[in-house]
Amino acid sequence: MVEVQEEATYVPHHKKKIAFLLSAMRHFAQSLRQEGWSVDYVRLDDPENSGSFGGEVERAIARHDAARIVVTEPGEWRVRAAMETWADRFGLPVEMLEDDRFLCTSGDFAAWAEGRKQLRMEYFYRDMRRKTDLLMDGDKPEGGRWNFDAENRKPAKGHDPMPLPCRFEPDKMTEEVLSLVEERFSDHFGSLRPFWFAVTADQAEQALDHFVKQALPRFGDYQDAMLQDERFLYHAVLSPYINAGLLDPLAVCRRVEAEFHAGRVPLNAAEGFIRQIIGWREYVRGIYWLMMPSYVDLNFLEQDRSLPAFYWTGETEMACLRACIGQTREEAYAHHIQRLMVTGNFAMLAGVDPKAVHEWYLAVYADAYEWVELPNTLGMSQFADGGLLGSKPYAASGNYINKMSDYCSACAYKVKEKNGPEACPFNYLYWDFLDRHRDKLAGNPRLGQVYRTWDRMDPARHEAVRADAERFLEQL
Ligand code: FAD
Ligand code: SF4
Repeated sequence: MVEVQEEATYVPHHKKKIAFLLSAMRHFAQSLRQEGWSVDYVRLDDPENSGSFGGEVERAIARHDAARIVVTEPGEWRVRAAMETWADRFGLPVEMLEDDRFLCTSGDFAAWAEGRKQLRMEYFYRDMRRKTDLLMDGDKPEGGRWNFDAENRKPAKGHDPMPLPCRFEPDKMTEEVLSLVEERFSDHFGSLRPFWFAVTADQAEQALDHFVKQALPRFGDYQDAMLQDERFLYHAVLSPYINAGLLDPLAVCRRVEAEFHAGRVPLNAAEGFIRQIIGWREYVRGIYWLMMPSYVDLNFLEQDRSLPAFYWTGETEMACLRACIGQTREEAYAHHIQRLMVTGNFAMLAGVDPKAVHEWYLAVYADAYEWVELPNTLGMSQFADGGLLGSKPYAASGNYINKMSDYCSACAYKVKEKNGPEACPFNYLYWDFLDRHRDKLAGNPRLGQVYRTWDRMDPARHEAVRADAERFLEQL
């Protein structure tokens, strides 16, 4: 096992993310040794460490007089491409094993996608339900419907107190890693402390147990809600653990299904949660491997603005962005709707280059790896793939954010005002975005009604929208 500088720095990963992964690796090596394995572990601060995967494989081959190289398939195209050069580079056979943190191999996904005109998640998800037998009643879905999403969009104003995710005190090994990260990555994004992530499989199990008992019953209801003083609502906060391999995705889903069968969790919550894991998580990974390496360069809307500096500092008068970015800096976490409808929505409306948006998301979240982050960002959130992942852009005005959150009451801008210096910028940027991209978006059947509304507006309103957007984007 090797801690490599190159992997920690090719984007400025959040300090908490680096600390989480290094600590989880060190704890894993320790548990393997306790089970009797011999582990050759190279630390980041080892003076001999070459700083790259390739360099470390080369040194390991020499140390162990290796006859072959066995690796698990990685989570990024970049790393896979490098591994594919190793047979020639080192003159040894390279065997690449399937990654068992997934239920659908990239080969199975490619077979599912073959010959389909549209790769809709919903149909993939139904196949995965049949394949895993999760929430099935014979060959029919439990409760007579595949999807209970319509019940999962409640705003959470006037809510009961909400549970916090399970927190763990750093042990000695984690403290050592925290000092290392403080010293080496002080210029990276985000706050390192307080650090409370699980770093072992046992702790991740405890976090799962805590989620299932405390939050899962209400997971569905408030899935799309956002609140200033409740960063986690009823979300699982398990993605870092599942993606790093501390939790097994199928076992997590079986546990959730068992809670439903025991009558402790309603169907809309259990189905909604299981869909995220065997549906969305597997589906985006399938898309990633199907579409790479060209996927990362897609820019359907030809947007080219730089990412605003406040994405790194959180310093903006827009309360929704300030809250989501501030929380991202402190926790290396934001839930799906904050990522999609606040930071993602704003970047798309403002015309930011999707690659810059992608690099930001890859850096700032503790759960971010390219196989999952790229399709979510470039496809779902920025519409840069022209509709492969989502049938229309996730663009919204301030009205949506106001409906689903309590951010607007603390904002310098007025969400009810459509134009002028005091108006919520999302309001005019939304229309300006649609106007700017009319040639590419007007033919989308799901946007027909929206363009008809725009066309019915007074020409003076059109001019005001364009002028407000120009003024705002210039000072951005
Ligand atoms: P919950 O809302 O409690 O959901 C439960 C689980 O379902 C998650 O732990 C996760 O494993 C899975 N899940 C839910 N939605 C998705 C999804 N769209 N894609 C894949 N898995 C999903 N997720 C990542 O794991 N890594 C990323 O880098 C990442 N980047 C994203 C970027 C953007 C722009 C957007 C819109 C979404 C991104 N997501 C990413 C998906 C989603 O936001 C996170 O998985 C979720 O917020 C994790 O928090 P949670 O564990 O509390 O999730
Ligand atoms: Fe965000 Fe607009 Fe609401 Fe301010 S008024 S919090 S900018 S949606």
